[in-house]
Amino acid sequence: MTQHTRSTCPYCGVGCGVLIESEAGRITGVRGDPAHPANLGRLCSKGATLHLTARPEVQEQVRLLQPLRRAARGAAAQPIAWDTALDTLAQRIAATVRQHGPDAVGLYVSGQLLTEDYYAFNKFAKGLLGTNNIDTNSRLCMSSAVAGYKATLGADAPPACYEDIAQASTLFIAGANPAWAHPILFRRIEDARRANPALKIIVCDPRRTDSAALADLHLALRPGSDLWLLHGMLRCMVEQGWTDPAYIAAHTSGWTALQAQVAQATPEAVWQHCGIAPADLLQAARWFAGVESGSDPRRPTLSLYCQGLNQSARGTDNNAALIHLHLACGQIGKPGAGPFSLTGQPNAMGGREVGALANQLSAHRNLADPRHRAEVAALWGVPEVPAAPGKAAVEMFEAAAEGHIKLLWIACTNPAHSLPDQALVRRALQRAEFVVVQDAYAGVATARFADLLLPAATWGEKEGTVTNSERRISRVRAAVPAPGQAWADWRIVTQVARRLQPLLPQRAALPGLFPYEGPEAIWNEHRESTRGRDLDITGLDWALLEAAPRQWPCPTGQAEGTARLYADGRFATADARARFVPQQPGGVAEPTDARYPLALLTGRLRDQWHGMSRSGTVESLWAHAGEPVAQMHAADMARLGLRDGDLAYLTSRRGSIVAPARASDELASGQVFLPMHWGDEVLGGASSTGRRLAGVNALTTAARCPQSLQPELKHAAIKVLKA
Ligand code: SF4
Repeated sequence: MTQHTRSTCPYCGVGCGVLIESEAGRITGVRGDPAHPANLGRLCSKGATLHLTARPEVQEQVRLLQPLRRAARGAAAQPIAWDTALDTLAQRIAATVRQHGPDAVGLYVSGQLLTEDYYAFNKFAKGLLGTNNIDTNSRLCMSSAVAGYKATLGADAPPACYEDIAQASTLFIAGANPAWAHPILFRRIEDARRANPALKIIVCDPRRTDSAALADLHLALRPGSDLWLLHGMLRCMVEQGWTDPAYIAAHTSGWTALQAQVAQATPEAVWQHCGIAPADLLQAARWFAGVESGSDPRRPTLSLYCQGLNQSARGTDNNAALIHLHLACGQIGKPGAGPFSLTGQPNAMGGREVGALANQLSAHRNLADPRHRAEVAALWGVPEVPAAPGKAAVEMFEAAAEGHIKLLWIACTNPAHSLPDQALVRRALQRAEFVVVQDAYAGVATARFADLLLPAATWGEKEGTVTNSERRISRVRAAVPAPGQAWADWRIVTQVARRLQPLLPQRAALPGLFPYEGPEAIWNEHRESTRGRDLDITGLDWALLEAAPRQWPCPTGQAEGTARLYADGRFATADARARFVPQQPGGVAEPTDARYPLALLTGRLRDQWHGMSRSGTVESLWAHAGEPVAQMHAADMARLGLRDGDLAYLTSRRGSIVAPARASDELASGQVFLPMHWGDEVLGGASSTGRRLAGVNALTTAARCPQSLQPELKHAAIKVLKA
């Protein structure tokens, strides 16, 4: 008989609800959950084929099904018992701490972990081990949004919700292609357009994407010129009298200083830096300000933005500059208005909530604040939480490459594919003395470097919670048992912690720090950690979550979540005022020049997900794009003697890859687009020079935003030659 299990899609941050169909311990189908507020029954091509990723014949081929140990690098990995694997890891960590201190251990985790997994990893590093060297691949995705929110609004809290899409009069989509990267959210945009033909849609993107095709105004700005554009729009608003002086006076600080800084973003300067015509700049500013028709009340504007702003050496400034526009026009805290960052991964938000970044603590607490460290230490029952910030993602691999980090524990992420500057990452993985890979999938590129492989459970097999882009917490449920010897991630961490605690002199005498027998106990500890914080979920117990997903905050005594933040104009800063923060416009980290004259742009394809470990197992998803193609402007191809399908060498200062080239009218001359999904685990084998390929991240730069430490994965300077 068919069982139906309510759960959540494990792909993107839209966080769609799914109904998993299963029979006799096998997943047989999946449907959109009509009761889930994120998707109301809809699923995109990836979500609708999830059951195909769980077919037994697929599982047998791609899953890591038992713990494995390599006697030496390059040797075949041999099966070992779970007990042996856990003892080995605990003893290696203890020995590393004894010889080199806790900061010689680095944990690199993932926005695809569930909140309870994330919580356990964070407590393991900061509470048990005594290091802040834990970071997540969400650093590559959302850390600029985090830093932008905190700098301006005082807390890492997206103020808007999905329902605002239907209530907006203008949608400002910046550095995002939701038609492909957030498809079910894009259905809402299409619905809003149908319901309100007067809706204005502005898309800022160097490429003419499917999202841009729906736009009334496509601002095809030059890569990395976002700050000039956003400053130019603010300058226009000031000059035209479209700002909201009453809102600025009542609810913000820093306005005078910022006005002086944006004065340099004249229409001529915006044209020069962005390639955006003055008339388009003025139109964008008018629609954003919501003053299209002079006599109307101000119309609401919602911004939707993602990696185009975040994955930049100026990521935090990009985010803050966009939020400035909302504050200047009072476009926040009301239906249809506000800045709304779209999360890439399914649980990037959950990781931020539990503080699993190298510079964060639980429940949005600040590592730098001694009071916050004391609160977390008391909650965990440990004497202290270390004060020094840990290594952020790229820094962690730099430290390993330099020999400072000796042991890397990598869970549910594939840095040998997804981090920038793969030459650096591979040096780090080779130099680290002990590398642990905890993953559901055996074939990830990072697994080749592992000394110890731990099999993890994945979608359809594990219990816990995730938080989507609109702060909505949903249950993830198991429909079937995990295959082979795979375990839930929180369970693996808990078991290692129980073995490690007696081996650490400073923690051995404490009561057991990891008493958990299931995710509900971890959830309750996390829930308590949020008491009195901006994301307070003390009112959201497991039973309430079982009934329906809810948005945080949801404090004690509040049965429902909170759809929209800052409706009262009070922000999460000390003086309750939002801040205009000083910033200077600038460009990309690595400008093109005579040697590397082309701008490489990277991004997602519609039907694949990240490194394709899961989505790549579904045949129908390959129909959209069967190989990585370097899209280029026809004039550039002609100049280089390339025809459609010819192989091209793409070279940056860090490496080379080979890919077929194809002409595209979505790009301006001087630009090349490559998707992010392919790495050497998929390209499989050697290029004609005998070197293994490493996908687009052989080319990308580790240059990063100084505030958020998010690398500039979106852009690098390259040259292209016919292969
Ligand atoms: Fe899954 Fe995202 Fe598609 Fe929804 S939009 S079904 S969450 S991939």
